[in-house]
Amino acid sequence: MARIPVMKPSLRTARTSIAPLMRGDAAARSAKPTMDFYGSAAWKKVRLEVQRACNRTCQGCGKTDTRIYVDHVVELKDGGAPLDRGNLVGLCAPCHAKKTSRERAKRAGR
Ligand SMILES: [Zn+2]
Repeated sequence: MARIPVMKPSLRTARTSIAPLMRGDAAARSAKPTMDFYGSAAWKKVRLEVQRACNRTCQGCGKTDTRIYVDHVVELKDGGAPLDRGNLVGLCAPCHAKKTSRERAKRAGR
Protein backbone atom coordinates (compact mmCIF):
# COMPACT_ATOMS: atom_id res chain seq x y z
CA MET A 1 0.00 0.00 0.00
CA ALA A 2 1.30 3.45 -0.89
CA ARG A 3 2.17 5.72 1.98
CA ILE A 4 0.47 9.05 2.20
CA PRO A 5 3.05 11.84 2.38
CA VAL A 6 2.90 13.70 5.65
CA MET A 7 3.62 17.39 5.78
CA LYS A 8 5.48 18.92 8.65
CA PRO A 9 3.28 21.12 10.80
CA SER A 10 3.65 24.73 9.78
CA LEU A 11 2.89 26.01 13.26
CA ARG A 12 5.42 25.63 16.02
CA THR A 13 4.36 24.57 19.46
CA ALA A 14 3.40 27.63 21.44
CA ARG A 15 5.43 28.31 24.53
CA THR A 16 2.50 28.86 26.83
CA SER A 17 4.81 29.86 29.67
CA ILE A 18 5.62 33.06 27.83
CA ALA A 19 2.25 33.58 26.20
CA PRO A 20 1.05 37.10 26.83
CA LEU A 21 -1.38 37.27 29.69
CA MET A 22 -4.41 39.49 29.75
CA ARG A 23 -3.59 43.13 30.08
CA GLY A 24 -4.49 44.59 33.43
CA ASP A 25 -3.89 41.31 35.19
CA ALA A 26 -1.74 41.96 38.24
CA ALA A 27 -0.14 38.54 37.93
CA ALA A 28 0.88 39.28 34.36
CA ARG A 29 2.58 42.51 35.31
CA SER A 30 4.43 41.02 38.23
CA ALA A 31 5.28 37.66 36.65
CA LYS A 32 7.09 38.91 33.56
CA PRO A 33 10.40 40.12 35.04
CA THR A 34 10.94 36.81 36.88
CA MET A 35 9.89 34.59 33.95
CA ASP A 36 13.45 34.15 32.68
CA PHE A 37 14.72 33.38 36.15
CA TYR A 38 12.31 30.48 36.68
CA GLY A 39 13.41 28.99 33.38
CA SER A 40 17.11 29.23 34.23
CA ALA A 41 19.33 26.21 34.79
CA ALA A 42 20.57 27.72 38.07
CA TRP A 43 17.03 27.94 39.45
CA LYS A 44 16.11 24.44 38.29
CA LYS A 45 19.23 23.08 40.00
CA VAL A 46 18.64 24.78 43.35
CA ARG A 47 14.91 23.98 43.21
CA LEU A 48 15.72 20.30 42.81
CA GLU A 49 18.20 20.47 45.70
CA VAL A 50 15.57 22.00 47.98
CA GLN A 51 12.95 19.49 46.88
CA ARG A 52 15.34 16.64 47.62
CA ALA A 53 16.28 18.09 50.99
CA CYS A 54 12.59 18.33 51.91
CA ASN A 55 12.03 14.70 51.03
CA ARG A 56 8.48 15.42 49.83
CA THR A 57 7.57 16.95 53.18
CA CYS A 58 5.99 20.40 53.43
CA GLN A 59 8.09 22.72 55.59
CA GLY A 60 4.96 24.68 56.45
CA CYS A 61 2.46 22.10 57.70
CA GLY A 62 4.51 18.90 57.71
CA LYS A 63 2.34 17.16 55.15
CA THR A 64 4.25 14.25 53.66
CA ASP A 65 4.33 12.52 50.31
CA THR A 66 3.19 15.59 48.47
CA ARG A 67 4.39 17.72 45.59
CA ILE A 68 6.77 20.34 46.91
CA TYR A 69 6.83 23.88 45.58
CA VAL A 70 10.05 25.73 46.27
CA ASP A 71 9.17 29.12 47.66
CA HIS A 72 11.23 32.24 48.25
CA VAL A 73 10.83 33.18 51.93
CA VAL A 74 11.55 36.80 50.98
CA GLU A 75 10.02 37.03 47.52
CA LEU A 76 12.06 38.19 44.56
CA LYS A 77 9.76 41.20 44.17
CA ASP A 78 10.66 42.18 47.71
CA GLY A 79 14.38 41.84 47.07
CA GLY A 80 14.84 38.27 48.28
CA ALA A 81 17.97 36.36 47.24
CA PRO A 82 16.99 34.26 44.22
CA LEU A 83 19.32 31.29 44.68
CA ASP A 84 20.19 31.41 48.38
CA ARG A 85 19.18 28.14 49.99
CA GLY A 86 18.56 30.09 53.19
CA ASN A 87 15.83 32.01 51.36
CA LEU A 88 14.14 28.91 50.00
CA VAL A 89 11.59 26.65 51.61
CA GLY A 90 9.64 23.66 50.31
CA LEU A 91 5.89 24.01 50.65
CA CYS A 92 2.87 21.92 49.66
CA ALA A 93 0.36 23.49 47.26
CA PRO A 94 -2.05 24.83 49.94
CA CYS A 95 0.78 26.29 52.06
CA HIS A 96 2.39 27.84 48.98
CA ALA A 97 -0.91 29.37 47.85
CA LYS A 98 -1.61 30.75 51.33
CA LYS A 99 1.85 32.24 51.65
CA THR A 100 1.72 33.78 48.18
CA SER A 101 -1.64 35.43 48.77
CA ARG A 102 -0.48 36.67 52.19
CA GLU A 103 2.57 38.31 50.59
CA ARG A 104 0.43 39.76 47.82
CA ALA A 105 -1.97 41.25 50.34
CA LYS A 106 0.93 42.69 52.33
CA ARG A 107 2.38 44.27 49.19
CA ALA A 108 -1.00 45.76 48.33
CA GLY A 109 -1.08 47.31 51.78
CA ARG A 110 -4.00 45.29 53.07
ZN1 LIG B 1 1.90 22.55 53.75
